[in-house]
Amino acid sequence: MSLQEEFVGATLEGRRDPDVVVVGAGTAGCYAAATIAHAGYDVVVLERKSEEEAGHIACGDALKGADAFPEAIPKAQIEPAFTNTAVDHGRFEIPQEDTVLEIPVPGELAVIDRWEYGKRIIEGAADAGAEFHYDTVVQNVLQDDTGRVTGVTATCRGEPRTYEADLVVDGAGSLSILQDYVDFGDSTFDTNVNYSQFCSAYREIVHVEEPVEWYDALVFKPTERAAGYLWYFPRTETEINVGLGFQMTERPMKLVEDLKRDLRERPEFAGARVEDKLGAALPTRRPYDSAVHPGFVAVGDAAGHVNPTTGGGIAGAAYAGKYAGEQAIEAIESGQVDEETLWRYNERVMDHYGARYAALDVYNILSTAIDVDDLMGLLAAMPGDKLAEALYSGSTDIGWKLKIEALLKSRGHWGTIWNMYQTKRRADEILDHYERYPSSPDGLTDWQAERDELMERVYETTGADPKY
Ligand SMILES: Cc1cc2nc3c(=O)[nH]c(=O)nc-3n(C[C@H](O)[C@H](O)[C@H](O)COP(=O)(O)OP(=O)(O)OC[C@H]3O[C@@H](n4cnc5c(N)ncnc54)[C@H](O)[C@@H]3O)c2cc1C
Repeated sequence: MSLQEEFVGATLEGRRDPDVVVVGAGTAGCYAAATIAHAGYDVVVLERKSEEEAGHIACGDALKGADAFPEAIPKAQIEPAFTNTAVDHGRFEIPQEDTVLEIPVPGELAVIDRWEYGKRIIEGAADAGAEFHYDTVVQNVLQDDTGRVTGVTATCRGEPRTYEADLVVDGAGSLSILQDYVDFGDSTFDTNVNYSQFCSAYREIVHVEEPVEWYDALVFKPTERAAGYLWYFPRTETEINVGLGFQMTERPMKLVEDLKRDLRERPEFAGARVEDKLGAALPTRRPYDSAVHPGFVAVGDAAGHVNPTTGGGIAGAAYAGKYAGEQAIEAIESGQVDEETLWRYNERVMDHYGARYAALDVYNILSTAIDVDDLMGLLAAMPGDKLAEALYSGSTDIGWKLKIEALLKSRGHWGTIWNMYQTKRRADEILDHYERYPSSPDGLTDWQAERDELMERVYETTGADPKY
């Protein structure tokens, strides 16, 4: 029997047994699948959407760090989806202060056609040898007597499907349903996950009649209430991704109406045409303390791999996919899919961006407790390049001259400055602690206990309610 006949026979019976099952054809799933397939392993990606709809994902379409994306999918393959590479700075509109701050953004930045990009990463993973099963909604997981995850069950157009594999990669996005079903038993997998650690966000693709003046900028504006912002990201001079989001600790915002109101107030949007509307939740929290369990690895949004101050998650998802893919290969080759073997994946995530995102989460926590007008007044008085550094690195130090200048300009906000200064110290402590992330699951409990003590100090300093 040929491989093709074997596969058709297998799926007709509703069963398929690849080496690895990846759930979700998003960025994390595609990069994981491409990495594993390149090494010659049999990998199947299950996607609930149709082939046509796959890759159509709610997003602001801003892609940071595209110059250093993992190579499992060649950059040349995704580049045609980069519709605006002229963006090089953030434009922060602060209506309360009648001020606009222009802040440079370090690293390569692009605004993309997200659906086109979504299709191209699927194509990239398929070229590497991954097989895609569309219209396939994963509904449960299989676990053996030891608790190891051995596969998933799904339905495809009403028909039951079973997939058994050495490893399941959970790339199913925010609040992944798979994690509701896995019995994590005694494993270290992070289950301290709550909807209030997420942001609810909504975006529209809007066509305007005349080119916008801020074609080379990502435009941000605070929402009227705390812990949220509006964005205007130009895909082209006349095609704009506009959206907004709020942290789910807050009273729910009426996203569609609030966006409409803001659009009405902007003359450049007079006579604009809306083409596409989508909304979703995104994690604005620290990365999972551990995203591995025997036979199971979570990647991207499913493991909280998003910058909690900007909401940017595409680059983190791509790298999580690469690291999980490489660890999957090592696990399969050694015949060990236990936590100890998969642990290196956690370490690589923490090393690369996890520690930084955990430190930035401290500012996200602060934003839920601080008065928005006060914060905006202070931002308006701060040196822009230093703000940019703080936004992306999780820590910054400003020289004494600038400190004094900023201080004089920001009279009236000194209480907030003191609060920010103390918060920065707490963020630095967290960053420092994450640099000592344990090298095996055995060290996690002690490491978490110390981290939780540091978090107590964060809540004390910021006056925010505990987030975890
Ligand atoms: C409104 C909004 C704006 C954003 N703006 C930006 C931005 O400008 N820049 C940026 O970098 N990031 C942004 N993000 C975050 C970014 O979109 C995510 O971090 C990124 O898409 C995560 O990729 P992922 O592969 O982990 O998950 P996803 O891209 O969400 O992919 C998950 C996939 O799993 C599939 N799936 C889910 N459940 C199942 C199931 N049960 N069975 C089968 N398939 C399933 C889904 O259909 C989907 O295809 C934004 C997010 C939102 C919501």
